[in-house]
Amino acid sequence: MDLSSTIVYANGEFCRYEDAKVGLLTHGLQYGTGCFEGIRGYWIPEEDELFLVLVRDHYERLINSAKILTMTLPRSTDELIDITLELCRRNRFRSDVYIRPFMYKAAEDIGVRLHGVPDAMAICPVPFTAYLDTSRGLHVCVSSWRRADDTMAPPRAKITGLYVNSALAKSEAVQNGYDEAILLSHDGHVAEGSAENIFLVRRGVLYTPDPSQNVLEGCTRRAIMDIARDEFGMQIVERSIDRGELYCAEEVFFTGTAAGIAHVASIDRRVVGDGRIGQMTKSLGEFYDRIVTGREPRYEHWITRTYARDRMSVPLPATASAAAPA
Ligand code: PMP
Repeated sequence: MDLSSTIVYANGEFCRYEDAKVGLLTHGLQYGTGCFEGIRGYWIPEEDELFLVLVRDHYERLINSAKILTMTLPRSTDELIDITLELCRRNRFRSDVYIRPFMYKAAEDIGVRLHGVPDAMAICPVPFTAYLDTSRGLHVCVSSWRRADDTMAPPRAKITGLYVNSALAKSEAVQNGYDEAILLSHDGHVAEGSAENIFLVRRGVLYTPDPSQNVLEGCTRRAIMDIARDEFGMQIVERSIDRGELYCAEEVFFTGTAAGIAHVASIDRRVVGDGRIGQMTKSLGEFYDRIVTGREPRYEHWITRTYARDRMSVPLPATASAAAPA
């Protein structure tokens, strides 16, 4: 991916990706002392508009992740949203995008700690490429790696260093011929996918691990629970889930910003249901799709229009090498 001329936000100003450098010994790179978010933008050609999804929820989670790492974001949530929109406008995106805001410990020295180390913040948007092929059912396995426990480093924070856990599980799964991994907690209960939350359906009830099961409190997870309850009157139960229950489920699906709603066709070579997408997964996925593409007016507040704002509000002042790419 050639990002050299993409406009990013770093050190309090807009600049080109190739001009935003970090040093080799940067603390966040050496020790994983950082946290990040992933925000999805859907390009809607009929409306000439880029919709950012649940952007406020993502920034609120970033604030909490930063708090856990004793960092403070330099801007308010509203300011961060404005900067994000401005960033998309400066890049003149006319495609789906993935936006990566992050904070990290920025000192270039040796010594693992959190206190007394300066923080830095940046936002990098990239054109979106499909994360998982959700046009077909996924074949997944239970990983031999366990999900990190809150007593080690809290998984409810999106902490940079914790993604080693996800990377180990994902690569093991893919190299063994699966699409994705399900991680169990240290005590053997189902936690989540490497970068997705998990839901299963049994006898018409929707189950998902509760937030004490070492899961990231997913924005899509919460959205799907709202839709399931408010639109379909589904019964939702948040509780610890045994591995064996995965094999008995009628439907299983993942949720995530990048993955969307992804149906699971098999787990450890055991077919889920009849292997095809189940009715509840289908209904929830289709409804979520309608929301993120602006076709459900009652859910307008879940999306933020990038360019409409431009017509309505005064853009942020230009700084440094902030010119939009030709
Ligand atoms: N769990 C993990 C470990 C993740 O990385 C993600 C992706 N952010 C999710 C769950 C899903 O969270 P969200 O719906 O907020 O993208």
